Amino acid sequence: MSTISSKKYEAVIGLEVHAQLLTKSKAFAPVTTEYGSAPNTQITPLCLGHPGTLPVLNENLVRYIIKLGLATGCNIAEKSIFARKNYFYPDLPKGYQISQYDTPICFDGELDIELEEYSKTIGITRIHMEEDAGKSIHDQDPYHTLVDLNRAGTPLIEIVSEPDIRTPQEAYAYLTKIKQIVQYLEICDGNMEEGSLRCDANVSIRPRGQKEFGTRTELKNMNSFRNVERAIQFEIERQIDLVESGGEVVQETLLWDASKLETRQMRSKEEAHDYRYFPEPDLPPVVVTDEMLNDIRSELPEMPSVRFERFISELKLGKEDASILTENRYLADYFEDVLELHNDAKAVANVILTEVLRVLNERSITIREFPISVDRLAGLIKLKAEDKINSSAMQKIFNEMLTEELSAEKLAEKLNLLQVSDTGFVEPIIDEVIAKNPDEVARFKEGKNALIGFFIGQVMKQSKGKANPKQVRELLIQKLNQS
Ligand code: ADP
Ligand code: MG
Repeated sequence: MSTISSKKYEAVIGLEVHAQLLTKSKAFAPVTTEYGSAPNTQITPLCLGHPGTLPVLNENLVRYIIKLGLATGCNIAEKSIFARKNYFYPDLPKGYQISQYDTPICFDGELDIELEEYSKTIGITRIHMEEDAGKSIHDQDPYHTLVDLNRAGTPLIEIVSEPDIRTPQEAYAYLTKIKQIVQYLEICDGNMEEGSLRCDANVSIRPRGQKEFGTRTELKNMNSFRNVERAIQFEIERQIDLVESGGEVVQETLLWDASKLETRQMRSKEEAHDYRYFPEPDLPPVVVTDEMLNDIRSELPEMPSVRFERFISELKLGKEDASILTENRYLADYFEDVLELHNDAKAVANVILTEVLRVLNERSITIREFPISVDRLAGLIKLKAEDKINSSAMQKIFNEMLTEELSAEKLAEKLNLLQVSDTGFVEPIIDEVIAKNPDEVARFKEGKNALIGFFIGQVMKQSKGKANPKQVRELLIQKLNQS
């Protein structure tokens, strides 16, 4: 695709995002949704589609989706109904999925996304409730496909965006924002690689300036944020090349192949499903009272964008630092918990942004698995602030704390790293260093001030890192000028 043709066209993108909810039990049956159990151990007759079984709505499914609806400025329907979406699939024994059709519980919301150069608002058409299907397993038996129904009936929500997204980067930013919000609300773990967040992308192109949308294709099977961005980029280029060479985009569903970096056809419009939606006769309408709404509203945590602004205005952090610290709710919580014990935002942010994040990256762990507790880290920062240890000792103690369950103070003692600010300890060392280096002393006196670094280095070395560099500097200058 030439740059000329990419300037001639504009892409139109709408995303459909599925999020698996963190409720303890399934959407319509009192059985656990915990991950990782042996296949087909978390099922009830309802999950198997046995005749005569009746669904009962899990109230937390409703509360969780309302949380997200409120956090994205949606209207919440006072009354919404469930619908049956009929289709046959081996991992769907009921032969239909319970979903919502023309009355979603949340609608007309919006989400602000930030890009490097600009920010914009993406409309949210609707957010509705549904249930997941089971899983077909194709790679464990050489002859048969196996079915695991543990996932059948797990609560899902679907978030449908308006076709307001214009570039793959905006799609990436939108998805990242959704992940951040569901994590802040603690309704979904937001892990795309593990399938708790899934995304389908609808993509079309039109000549710039044209109002009408072009024919869209739907992309599926993208299991990482980067893949969503790449697949959309690929699809935009494919459509532009097609139209530029006289072809026409046809409405179809495409699968993204992450190893070949290309899309391939899954089904055409002719094969598109007709789900024969109809109201679910076994469930009453979902009624949301004002009392319930107020109750849920009062449970909402501070949202990431509000927290970000507060970190800048109240804690005087830079934009970049505030953004990294608020990206993940638990990292922001950790930061603020340390801050509560040691009230110096800059110092605390500095240690977290450098040392703590380095360890999280190296070990591929989250802050919740980080081995240094809030009070131990606060203790370490305090030791440094009180000049009881110097920077290199701080680093050593930090690394030691990763494996040793001791406080910073205990470790400083154990490793013999406590600074000695007693002049009786450093003075003899300083005297010795001055006596041993007459040439440097002479040059210093001739005006070579930079040599102070050499003297400090020698004293620190002699003191085995225990001297207080600030004090050493002062005493050195005094003594050098006297000698
Ligand atoms: P369906 O019922 O087939 O799922 P919807 O009208 O619900 O279709 O739209 C699904 C998604 O496709 C929405 O996110 C919407 O914004 C997006 N969309 C609709 N038309 C277009 C288009 N021409 N180009 C790109 N995206 C579109
Ligand atoms: Mg749809």
